[in-house]
Amino acid sequence: MSEKVTLDELVSLCKRRGFVFQASDIYGGLAGFWDYGPLGIEIVQNIKNLWWRAVVREQENIYGLDSAIIQNPKLWEASGHVAGFTDPLVDCKNCGARIRADHLADTDSTDIDELTKLLQDKVCPSCGKKTLTAPRKYNMMMKTWVGPVEDDSAVAYLRPETAGPMFTNFDNVRETMRAKLPFGIAQIGKAFRNEISPRDFIFRVRELEQMEMQYFINPADQQTAYEQWRKFAWNFLTERLGIAEQSIKWHEHGADERAHYAKAAHDIYFDFPHGSKELWGTHNRTDFDLSNHIKASGKDLQYFDEATKERFTPYVIESSVGVGRMFLAVLTNAYHKESINGEERIVLKLHANLAPYKLAVSPLLKNKPELIHRAKEIYDEFKKVFGNVIWDDNGNIGKRYRRQDEIGTPYCVTIDFQTLDDGTVTLRDRDTTQQERASVSEIISKLQNNS
Ligand code: ATP
Repeated sequence: MSEKVTLDELVSLCKRRGFVFQASDIYGGLAGFWDYGPLGIEIVQNIKNLWWRAVVREQENIYGLDSAIIQNPKLWEASGHVAGFTDPLVDCKNCGARIRADHLADTDSTDIDELTKLLQDKVCPSCGKKTLTAPRKYNMMMKTWVGPVEDDSAVAYLRPETAGPMFTNFDNVRETMRAKLPFGIAQIGKAFRNEISPRDFIFRVRELEQMEMQYFINPADQQTAYEQWRKFAWNFLTERLGIAEQSIKWHEHGADERAHYAKAAHDIYFDFPHGSKELWGTHNRTDFDLSNHIKASGKDLQYFDEATKERFTPYVIESSVGVGRMFLAVLTNAYHKESINGEERIVLKLHANLAPYKLAVSPLLKNKPELIHRAKEIYDEFKKVFGNVIWDDNGNIGKRYRRQDEIGTPYCVTIDFQTLDDGTVTLRDRDTTQQERASVSEIISKLQNNS
C-alpha cells in the first residue's frame, strides 16, 4: 500500500506535468484562481463528459441547460443569496488578517452566537495577538456593473451557484420538453464566490465550476427522490470514477450548518490530503426557490398534475458537486508512489476513461528511419480511433515509461524490429508494468472494451 499523498506533492505534479497552473503566475498569481493546463483540461473534460452522460443522456427525464453567468439581480434577491449567502468572518484589528470564523473555531456551525463563544480566547493565527473582532456575516456574492454607468442601478452579480437559472427556467423547460414530474434540469458551469480564505490548492477557490442537477418532484416523493440522488452520487464516484469506497463517507448537515435554502443536506466527504472534506452535496431545497420566484416575479410556476387534478409548487432535490474538487479527489485517489524492482516510481492509476491519453506510442530507437516510419503509421491508426493518443520518443524507453506513468497513461506501445516482420508491438500495462506482444487490432478492441 502506498503512503498517503500530500497536497504539496499533488501541487508539484500538477505544475510539473501541465495539469494545473496558478492563474497569472508571472504576476504572482491571484488567490483563489487557477488555470487548467493541457493535461488537466483533458481530465476535466473526461469528468464532465462522464457526469453529463450519467445525469442527462442516460436518464429519460433530465434536461440540459447552459444559462448565462450574469442574470437579472432580482433572481439572487428572490433566492435569498443577496441577503443570506454569507460565511462568518473575523478581522484582526492588529494585522488586518481576515479569517473564516468557523474554520478558526474548528466547527461545522456557522451560528454567530455559537462562534462568538468558541472564539472568545482565540488569538489571531497570523500575528498571534488577541485582537480579533467578534464574528460577523460576510456576503460572498461577486459584484459587477452591467453597462457603461457604474452606479447602484447597474449592479449585477456573478452567479454564486449554477442552480438559480434552473429554477427560473423551470417553466420554459417543462413547456418546451412537455415534461411531466418528476423531471430534472442539469447544467455544468462556472460559479463565483468571494471566499474569505481560498486555500488548499484547487479545493477552495473563488472561481469554481459546478455540475448541478435540480430534480422537480411532487412533495410527497421527497424522501424517495432524496435517497435516489444520494445513492446516485455514491455510485457515480465508486463505479464511474473508481474512487475507493473506504475514502468516502456521509456527513449529514446539522441545523446550524445548512444553507439558507435547505431542509436536509447530506454531503459525501472525501479523504483529501488535507483532511476529510466536502466533495458532493445532496440537498432537499423544498419549494423554497420556486415559491420565492413566484412571489417576486408574479409568474405562476406551479405545476398542474393532469392525472390527480392537483395544483402545487414542486419540491426540488438538488445534486451539486464541484468539478475542481472532483478533479482533486480523482488525482488523490490515483496517486501512488511505488518501488518496482528497487526503482521508485510515481504512477497515476487513473481509470482509463479519465486518463488524459489512452495510450502512448514510441519507436524503440530514435535513429532508425524504418522503425520511426512504421511507428508513425501505427500512431496515426490509433489516433484515428481514440483521438487522445500521445507520440513519445524522448529519452530512453525507461524514461518514457516513467513519464507516462506520472500522467496516468494506461498503456505504452513500442514499435521494434519484430513489428516490421510480424506486425505485433509491445504493449506495456501501466499498473502491472507487464509487457505482452499484440497486434494493433487486438489493442484497439482491448481498449474499446476497457472504456
Ligand atoms: P463549503 O462548505 O466547502 O464551503 P458549500 O457547502 O458552500 O461548500 P455548496 O454550496 O453545497 O458548497 O456547493 C456545492 C459544491 O460546489 C460543493 O460540494 C463543492 O464540491 C463545490 N464548491 C463549493 N464551494 C467551492 C469553492 N469555494 N471551491 C471549490 N468548490 C466549491
